[in-house]
Amino acid sequence: MALSGIAIYKLLPKTNCKDCGFPTCLAFAMKLSQQGIKLSACPHVSEESKQALDASARPPIQLVTVGTGERAFSVGNEVVMFRHEKTFYNPTALAVRVKTSQSREAIAATVAAVDAYSVERVGIHMRLNAIAIDDAKGDPAAFASCVEQVSSITKMPLILISKDPRVMEAGLSKVAGRRSLIYAANSENVAQMAALAAKHGSPLAVQGDGLSQVAEVVEQANKAGVEELVLDPGARGFGNTLNTFTQIRRLALKSKERLVGYPVIAFPGEGSISPEEEALLASQLVIKYAGIVVLDHFAPHHAYPMLTLRQNIYTDPQKPIQVEPGVYPIRDPGRDSPVLVTTNFSLTYFSVAGEVDGSGMPAWLVICDTDGLSVLTSWAAGKFDGAKIAKTVTTHEVGSRVDHRFLLIPGHVAVLSGEIEEELPGWSVLVGPREGIDIPGYLKNVWTARLQGAKK
Ligand code: SF4
Repeated sequence: MALSGIAIYKLLPKTNCKDCGFPTCLAFAMKLSQQGIKLSACPHVSEESKQALDASARPPIQLVTVGTGERAFSVGNEVVMFRHEKTFYNPTALAVRVKTSQSREAIAATVAAVDAYSVERVGIHMRLNAIAIDDAKGDPAAFASCVEQVSSITKMPLILISKDPRVMEAGLSKVAGRRSLIYAANSENVAQMAALAAKHGSPLAVQGDGLSQVAEVVEQANKAGVEELVLDPGARGFGNTLNTFTQIRRLALKSKERLVGYPVIAFPGEGSISPEEEALLASQLVIKYAGIVVLDHFAPHHAYPMLTLRQNIYTDPQKPIQVEPGVYPIRDPGRDSPVLVTTNFSLTYFSVAGEVDGSGMPAWLVICDTDGLSVLTSWAAGKFDGAKIAKTVTTHEVGSRVDHRFLLIPGHVAVLSGEIEEELPGWSVLVGPREGIDIPGYLKNVWTARLQGAKK
């Protein structure tokens, strides 16, 4: 059971030495109680207190890191059942599986394509996270050779799949120090697999048929000193994984059941009848509640929606993704170019910027600070009004960039026209379309005619 901040404080040295980076032991205790820091940040805790505090320091779902360097990923450390209760912290890692039964050319092509795949959305670059290598032959030499080939192509973290400790050892020997995930220990091989995990400093997946069997293997792995575990309770298919993964999350968070307090790994391709069904199940797993999803197929048109969904699920609902307020030139605008105004919600910014760019017409895009809220939400919250728009236009000297005095505002906030003109004497407001998709047509027809009319 987690300890409260005050209970933790009673176990600390109470010297307020600041070596942990906090001004007082109490501040450190409060942070520790929220699992926002590790106990090891305080170098002065007695052994006796350490044991008592370990229970508090460990998150209900263990944080597990796979890989090293800039492409390493961490999963686990989640503290809520539902995103709206707080936030989800560590995005589901998406891996693509290759098998030793495939040709070397096919493996090389898949790994290179997955490694290179990257898409940008709302200013954030998204990529897949890992390659899983499956021992389909039971042959240590073939597995080692495949691991060597894959690791020479990519720096992505690896998931090594074999139930045979001899095969696993051969694979691990080719990627020493890369913290590859070992999949998997089961009731038969747990002693050998745990020994390999300890020897190589690797996280270990634990596989069983149902939660009870998984918990038994976890207990044995823990006794062997391995704490960084990932669970595969054997669930496959839509209903079964939804039930089982929800049960695991609930047991870990609500019942503080330590033996299932680990991230979960899933294989949506197993049992799916098509790549499309696999992609659908993978999407379910991103939402509830997989830490790692291993795909059997890679296609950009499946990967992109999965990455988009993951981005949406794993952003903090209380902190919308924002862009910096200011004036953004699009396509090298000049003194006759239109001036469009909108909010600093990333999705709004990138939608409007994309449509303006796609129109082919250079423009100035004025972004107001609305705390990352969209047009209608910020208007309703009083964060996108005449005064705010006028202040942004003035602060960023928009008038010095153009010869005309027209401001183009989103159609949804046409009601602000009078207010803006009052706040910005000399400027006229043009009410643009409600939807970004209509901006190119508006610029081509309405704006061009308006500018020409103003020049006559
Ligand atoms: S390092 Fe330890 S003793 Fe020093 S202030 Fe932090 S919690 Fe207190």
